Amino acid sequence: MAIKVDFRSDTVTKPTAEMQAAMMSAKIGDDVFGEDETVNELERKLAGMFNMEAGLFCPSGTMTNQIAIKCFTQPMDEVICDQTSHVYRYEGGGIAYHSMASVRLLYGERGILTPELIEPEINESNIHYPNSSLVVLENTVNKGGGIAYTLDQIEPIHTLCNIKGLKLHLDGARIFNALIATGDHAKDYGKYFDGISVCLSKGLGAPVGSVLLGSAATIKKARKIRKAFGGGMRQAGFLAAAGIYALDHHVSRLSTDHQHAAALADALNKVNYVSSVMPVQTNIVLFNVAAGFRAEDVVHLLSEKGIACIATSLNTIRMVTHLDVSSEMVDMAIDKIMHMQPITHK
Ligand SMILES: *Cc1c(COP(=O)(O)O)cnc(C)c1O
Repeated sequence: MAIKVDFRSDTVTKPTAEMQAAMMSAKIGDDVFGEDETVNELERKLAGMFNMEAGLFCPSGTMTNQIAIKCFTQPMDEVICDQTSHVYRYEGGGIAYHSMASVRLLYGERGILTPELIEPEINESNIHYPNSSLVVLENTVNKGGGIAYTLDQIEPIHTLCNIKGLKLHLDGARIFNALIATGDHAKDYGKYFDGISVCLSKGLGAPVGSVLLGSAATIKKARKIRKAFGGGMRQAGFLAAAGIYALDHHVSRLSTDHQHAAALADALNKVNYVSSVMPVQTNIVLFNVAAGFRAEDVVHLLSEKGIACIATSLNTIRMVTHLDVSSEMVDMAIDKIMHMQPITHK
């Protein structure tokens, strides 16, 4: 039976009928004037959930991250992050462009940083050195195969940043996947971070949007930076309503996405063209093709069977589960995965 299932990213979801109804009945106003009730409600709601003072609705996770970095650095400062970080790899060189800061890259195990990795890379005060001012963590770690930090791992990083006078920002594009996987609570996050970016358009299934959370003073500054970045939106309540709907209805179901990813990983572990699958914790499956196979050939063959995914290197492939992938689709995809035989590449 012909199937089409899109495992390329959890960004490909389309709003459900119920979400669309919530969007179309939203109370709206001009948000640059602060008059969009639905945007205000979304910002308050998420800030409350994470125990932070305020929020700022932005068009993308890239924008919330870049605004945060701009808030927490001065030109000639240095940002410390893992080498796999989205803020470093996939935001168009934005740290240099917007904030005129340099980046110190660390090599965490699957992108997970520790105080032991961070501390030696914090510069002493010296005219030769850029001023280390910010650490950025990512939870879950996208290029780490969706691995999640627990708050127990985050707490000592927060303590170190506090002692050394550095700010701590969380790229929480998939923070709800992390919360579901670890059992940690959103309300415990506020005290550890100066800024948190939360994406609504990944696993939560909203069409657009990310919210930056922080102190009232940070968000006041962030609001001005958002305007300068061209991100001040007018009747954005239609979009914010999708975010509110997603927070109310699409968080607990993320565990289903995690089960689907685990089932895919099990199947991939059994076929001869896969050499290893990164242990799956959330909704991302990263696997290596066996020697003699090429990731792009396997991706091509999968696409002919109706399964879309992405080669992330010469021998690595990524599959991501999400709201628009049903259990039936996963079962059928597994059947195709188990029965196909890619040719070896000599
Ligand atoms: C998707 C993503 C973002 C934000 O991406 P946008 O497409 O700009 O919304 C940020 N960080 C990580 C880890 C992501 O996966």
